[in-house]
Amino acid sequence: MTTYKEFHKRSIEDRDGFWKEQSALIDWHKAPEQICDYSRPPFVKWFKGGETNLCYNAVDRHAAKRPDDKALIYISTETNEEVVYSFAQLQREVERMAAIYQDLGVKKGDRVLIYMPMIAEAAFAMLACARIGAIHSVVFGGFASGSLATRIDDAKPVLMVSSDAGMRNGKAVPYKHLVDEACNIAEFPPRNVLIIDRGLDKGFPKVEGRDVDYATLRAKHMDAQVPVTWVESSEPSYILYTSGTTGKPKGVQRDTGGYAVALAASMKHIFMGDAGETMFSTSDIGWVVGHSYIVYGPLLAGVATIMYEGTPLRPDAGVWWSIVEKYKVSVMFSAPTAVRVLKKQDPAFLKKYDLSSLKHLFLAGEPLDETSHEWIMSELGIPVIDNYWQTETGWPILAICRGVEDSKIKLGSPAFPVYGYDLRLFREDGSEAGANEKGIVGIVPPLPPGCLSTVWGQDERFVSTYFSTFADPVIYSSSDWGIRDDNGYYTILGRMDDVINVAGHRLGTREIEEAVQAHPAIAEVAVVGVADSLKGQMPMAFAVVKDAATVDTEEKRVALEKDVMKKVDSMLGAIARPGRVHFIAGLPKTRSGKLLRRSIQALAEGRDPGDLTTIEDPTALEQIRTVLGV
Ligand code: ATP
Ligand code: MG
Repeated sequence: MTTYKEFHKRSIEDRDGFWKEQSALIDWHKAPEQICDYSRPPFVKWFKGGETNLCYNAVDRHAAKRPDDKALIYISTETNEEVVYSFAQLQREVERMAAIYQDLGVKKGDRVLIYMPMIAEAAFAMLACARIGAIHSVVFGGFASGSLATRIDDAKPVLMVSSDAGMRNGKAVPYKHLVDEACNIAEFPPRNVLIIDRGLDKGFPKVEGRDVDYATLRAKHMDAQVPVTWVESSEPSYILYTSGTTGKPKGVQRDTGGYAVALAASMKHIFMGDAGETMFSTSDIGWVVGHSYIVYGPLLAGVATIMYEGTPLRPDAGVWWSIVEKYKVSVMFSAPTAVRVLKKQDPAFLKKYDLSSLKHLFLAGEPLDETSHEWIMSELGIPVIDNYWQTETGWPILAICRGVEDSKIKLGSPAFPVYGYDLRLFREDGSEAGANEKGIVGIVPPLPPGCLSTVWGQDERFVSTYFSTFADPVIYSSSDWGIRDDNGYYTILGRMDDVINVAGHRLGTREIEEAVQAHPAIAEVAVVGVADSLKGQMPMAFAVVKDAATVDTEEKRVALEKDVMKKVDSMLGAIARPGRVHFIAGLPKTRSGKLLRRSIQALAEGRDPGDLTTIEDPTALEQIRTVLGV
């Protein structure tokens, strides 16, 4: 048994040997000629000359061996539907969708924009692209027409796949008119729009000659057999725009072979999901977690995946756990935000169901504070594994790889660099930071398999955005700030743009948030730096309490504010004490659960909060305006 340290070391020092071994986790139509071609830095081509297909590896090869095993489990608590597709059934549905695409003239290399709710057809639509070598661009089905139009013009799709409506909290959310608006605004609208009519928005408008109906075309292609199109390893499989938390989204371009190998390896070494088991990722297909760990990752490993349309709280806060019980979920993936939401609910919901099938819970997307980490781990009685990554990388950068070695979990830390990543912390001058020293989280290129190949259509932007922090050394910059302890455990301190500078001391938003969150009355908090004439910047906290009764009078509010400040003083020192702790009912977040710290900061400094198209609950910003009196 190799230790994790040795495993990681080999992945860097014997890069080709290591990844050649991992590449055996997928099937190749033609074996790669070269493992890593890094002749044009910082661009890298993995498994050059190899030919494979993502859909074949995710569906066909399992359908051939285990046709009746569960592959895709669609659950909607919005429409009260539940449909289980076996691998054989999934393959047939994907072939039907692929035949429809071919009918509509979609060819290899063409883009297909998928703007869909969380329904099974969304997965068919993605896999059908992979099957015929078309490139999908999934746009989160909550974006307004303007954001959709920008993404249409960037990807220039020949086809859009959408639906009449999505459902949220029991209400239909019409999509089709947004599609029409976006197509009107866009300079390069698609030739066709394929509509999956769920009957939720009766009488939605149809555009003659452009719009086509899925059910009608599916009926025509019931017996379709569409052979897979083999593609060269570095040919693009999809474009996915980053979440846009910090501004203009970037079109991440993903390859085919490297991504397949990276995901298959991660299912083994990080997520520990075996063929025949079930994985439940609570994300959305519009985000990277949805691409990697709702659709491709589990299916590549022969693991059944759950596609869940609904919220974590309807019909009640036990809904996720009822799914875990019913489908004997063994691997679950969610976000820290969800844990903090659950913390505000009755913990009895966690005890109501038989969760004995669950082996691990993985959390990513935002810093996981120690208090929440400890709470969820003791409630569930299983290891809860924080993992840090980005849309750009497609799979974890920092995590505990328990599939390799049973390393100890450190609360509040995503642990170690994942194999394949030569990760280091850098000072502002490009030199390497030592243990217990804050630094920029950087990766020495080449980036491992699975990471972005470039920014779609903008090689220049790929280099300038990610590889231009220092002239020397050239590193991939994550734009995040972190620290490493004496035992090699990393902690992410926040985004570099969010760093708070108080009288010359640089503090990560996360450090102060961690301290505020350690107060037993607090469920969630966002801390931002606000310009201050004396100190440069002053931290300001916006907190949500677990129980509204703790702040229901002015007196209680003042007392709790003081108490929270005391907590920060004791944990970090008075230098980090927030100038104010405001109590509000909810924090502004993106629809993927990320805090919009920059918008809060803008409001606190009397500026425009910026692009808010992905905001979950606009009233949260209104509350902040109210407490600030702006
Ligand atoms: P944009 O780049 O468009 O502003 P975004 O960075 O929010 O959007 P994502 O790629 O979805 O888009 O998010 C990645 C970022 O999320 C990371 O760079 C980091 O700031 C944060 N993050 C993800 N996982 C963790 C984690 N486990 N701990 C701390 N932060 C995390
Ligand atoms: Mg980012």
